[in-house]
Amino acid sequence: MGKDNKMLAGIVPIEIWRKMLRVGNSLDIDKGGMYDSRSGAINVWASPEDKPAGWEHVTIDKGALDYPRSIVGTISWEPTAQLVDEKWEDAAKIFFDICPYERWRVEKREICAEKTILESEVEWMTEKALFLLLVASKELDPPGGIFCRFCDAYVKVTLFNEFIDHLVEIHNVDVKSVILGDRFIIETGTGTIEV
Ligand SMILES: [Zn+2]
Repeated sequence: MGKDNKMLAGIVPIEIWRKMLRVGNSLDIDKGGMYDSRSGAINVWASPEDKPAGWEHVTIDKGALDYPRSIVGTISWEPTAQLVDEKWEDAAKIFFDICPYERWRVEKREICAEKTILESEVEWMTEKALFLLLVASKELDPPGGIFCRFCDAYVKVTLFNEFIDHLVEIHNVDVKSVILGDRFIIETGTGTIEV
């Protein structure tokens, strides 16, 4: 696969794509996240702890960034339409454009034909995109919100991610990871919270 290969990854309703951009923004690399969606596409970055298989020899440094990150690729989109219940609705074609510059540099891949991508990089990108998609599609009802055990009350949030921000910013919870399923499980430094 050449370096200019843009892969169609799927089609999602336009509102979901917009929410994915917002989720990417709240998980920005400047805040310790793995994304940046400032340009209207979503760049996906690897960290020393979370990188594609086959990157064992790639050292990920901070460089000019706030956290050590190295770009793996970009999730971009094109407008399209989707037939839903016999009506055409605005949708987004989602593409992956994988450009693992730092791995190519380490492997001294200088000419275009040498700049190939790994299957593990496609899998890793898919995982990262799927995470955004799942958080984006789990939109919560504003009236109820999510029950916060620390406030002992419901917190009004539109996106699940805003609840994570709430835990981190208001209660100083050390959020390690979020496991998505029928229910969300938040792993923290001091135990798990089920939502
Ligand atoms: Zn709270």
